[in-house]
Amino acid sequence: MSEAPQSGWTPPPGRTQKLVLFTGFSCSSHCHFCIDLNKRDLPDKSSRQIVEEMVRAKAAGVEYLEMIGGETTIRRDFLPLVKTAKTLGFKDIVVVTNGRMFAYPDFAKATVEAGVTDLVFSIHGPDAKLHDDLTHVPGAFDELIRGVANARAAGLERIFGNCTVVKQNMKRLPEIGALFLGLGIHHVEFIFVDPTYGGAYTNFHGLVPRISEAAPYMRETLAVGRRGGTRDFVVRYVPLCHFPDDLDQISEIREVATFRTRHWAPDFQNDDVGAGRAIAGRGKTERCAGCALYDRCEGLWKEYLRRCGDEELSPVKAQAPTHA
Ligand code: SF4
Repeated sequence: MSEAPQSGWTPPPGRTQKLVLFTGFSCSSHCHFCIDLNKRDLPDKSSRQIVEEMVRAKAAGVEYLEMIGGETTIRRDFLPLVKTAKTLGFKDIVVVTNGRMFAYPDFAKATVEAGVTDLVFSIHGPDAKLHDDLTHVPGAFDELIRGVANARAAGLERIFGNCTVVKQNMKRLPEIGALFLGLGIHHVEFIFVDPTYGGAYTNFHGLVPRISEAAPYMRETLAVGRRGGTRDFVVRYVPLCHFPDDLDQISEIREVATFRTRHWAPDFQNDDVGAGRAIAGRGKTERCAGCALYDRCEGLWKEYLRRCGDEELSPVKAQAPTHA
């Protein structure tokens, strides 16, 4: 099959200040791999705290506000909070969602009218069986598919996606990529599961694939996107030696060029996420010595390295990069 014309990614001229505002960890789904699975009982932030954080962020120059949970759309104050964000003048008001609330057309319409500029739908399987199993909610897939349609019918144009890569779905990632394309979603992040905390920490061997087994399916999914005309399928939390020919489709490389990102959650605050992730959660090893991609690479999850070792890392030669 010949490839469709592709739009390459070029870094923006300057970095945008971004805040990922975690409103709390309450959620209407129960994804087995969720990093917040052990935090469900922590109290959600109050309306007042969230508004105060929005005001503080705006004063600090934040233009791009991403609201995330848990599932932030199930808050009773969700719509007033979005309206407040709009009144404060954030340029981008992004909501990451399991999509289920958007199955209600009135809710989708009210959300767009309140001022949300972008929605990011999390889809973890290409069909109801796998998605519902991974989210532990019968009917979740059908709800989010209706949600995508309702958001679009409400006039929202900027609809994005993400998908967490686990053992159960890795072989079906190309199908998930095709599903996103079929839904008209061309910006999708495929995220190698984080085993530092939560569900994937507790059930590491049941959920976390070997990177050398998952990477070929992730690369094939990027190719599915390219054949569909997009280079905005990206992969996240992966060692670059498994993606040497896809460096323009590595999420973190784009992110550090695009954003200076803060994370403000109920239980932690990180004001430089790029540096924090590299220092805390991700790591390289002595096998990386001399790798041509060393300075651009954040390595692999330290928890993964602790459990599985580093044999799958393979330094990339300077002149002639090859797949690991
Ligand atoms: S060998 Fe190490 S530094 Fe090089 S790409 Fe792999 S993980 Fe990154």
